[in-house]
Amino acid sequence: VVLGAGFGGLNVAKDLADVPVDVVVVDANNFHTFQPLLYQVATAGLGPDDIAQPVRRILRRHRSVDVVLGRVDSIDLEARSVHTAEGVALTYDHLVVAVGAVTADYGIPGVNEHALGLKTLPDAVRVRNHILNCFEEANRIALRGGQPDPALLTFVVVGGGPTGVEVAGELAEVRRAILAKEFRDIDASGARLVLVEAADHLLRAFHPRLRERARRALVARGVEVRLGTAIEQISEGGVVLAGGEELPARTLIWAAGVRAHPLGSSLVGELTADGRVPVDEHLCLPGRPEVRVIGDLAAARDRRGRLLPQLAPVAIQEAHHVAASITSEVTGRPGPKPFQYRDRGIMATIGRSEAVAQFRPNVRLSGFLGWVAWLGLHLIELIGFRNRANVLVNWAWNYLTYDRGARLILENGR
Ligand SMILES: Cc1cc2nc3c(=O)[nH]c(=O)nc-3n(C[C@H](O)[C@H](O)[C@H](O)COP(=O)(O)OP(=O)(O)OC[C@H]3O[C@@H](n4cnc5c(N)ncnc54)[C@H](O)[C@@H]3O)c2cc1C
Repeated sequence: VVLGAGFGGLNVAKDLADVPVDVVVVDANNFHTFQPLLYQVATAGLGPDDIAQPVRRILRRHRSVDVVLGRVDSIDLEARSVHTAEGVALTYDHLVVAVGAVTADYGIPGVNEHALGLKTLPDAVRVRNHILNCFEEANRIALRGGQPDPALLTFVVVGGGPTGVEVAGELAEVRRAILAKEFRDIDASGARLVLVEAADHLLRAFHPRLRERARRALVARGVEVRLGTAIEQISEGGVVLAGGEELPARTLIWAAGVRAHPLGSSLVGELTADGRVPVDEHLCLPGRPEVRVIGDLAAARDRRGRLLPQLAPVAIQEAHHVAASITSEVTGRPGPKPFQYRDRGIMATIGRSEAVAQFRPNVRLSGFLGWVAWLGLHLIELIGFRNRANVLVNWAWNYLTYDRGARLILENGR
């Protein structure tokens, strides 16, 4: 039984498809989401179905793999069974838990109530609706002869990691492509984009030169980058920064990080500070070799004892490892060596023709070259030919026309 059809779970199921075992994949959604491109849905560059695929379609050629749409709400390790909120119970010989992570609020008051998260596809559509609704509301006020409240066109992004940087950069494109060109009664230069980060630099995991390059690129696009600025509280009317400064804003996009899925507490008593489940060198639950935990939920470590980052390639490599170890148990073939993550690099895009990328051992790219590398890699990693073709066409269209086609408002308000 594989819990979760994200980057981890899907790859386990695919690897096990040719092994003499029955596989059941359980996911709370009927689709797999390519999370690295969620921010493009949120900013109307891509549509939701460009970055998601039905799990059944992805796995349909694998006859030994079954799919259950269900939200797992408990795991009974003694009885070797999992239970879904819809009343389905499944017993297992081997269990792989790959349910990922959820948005972390770090205990900051108001985050859950007033900030817009960006962890799931519905989150991304909600952000898109909200931004477009703000433009429309400002337009109506202008048509009535009024002056829109500046907070209505102030967009605050919290978190200077790759997601925050990418959202802030794309919002600058949205301001230029939609607000300035199509809302003739609004002064687009009055729209304010603010990126707030508690550390004194963006993109913590990147080389200092690339961090600075990203900061300058954002500033050049008209984003106010507030470094060394923690958030104290969030309300409907805006953000209170540490020190008491108030930043009135109707839109607050929360890209400050994730914590592991709460289901982890059904597996062990003691989790890491960010809620991850400790695992051994083969990604098994200590003392429970039949239970493996991978991806964002797992507290796997590198040789120096540092927690591995919560990234797609980590989840994918862990998936291949646990599938290989299950295969070896079933077939009697030798098992894999202890798991070791091979870090091939990281990247983040800032907007049109601008990205930063660093690859092992010491290759760093920025600007147009970094952007082309970013585009190519994301296209290759997307699942399914149809999605790749759609995304390629959309990107080409957006690039050539400066347009953003995927901007239907699918519900009013938030
Ligand atoms: C906005 C954003 C941008 C990102 N950008 C990048 C990037 O550029 N590069 C990169 O490497 N990584 C990126 N990541 C991180 C990357 O997406 C994760 O590390 C990766 O998805 C982890 O894989 P996973 O299999 O552990 O979990 P996921 O891929 O999150 O999959 C978890 C699955 O479990 C399912 N699930 C959850 N709860 C339940 C339940 N109770 N019952 C049943 N099913 C359940 C979910 O529906 C989901 O399908 C990004 C993440 C986000 C949110």
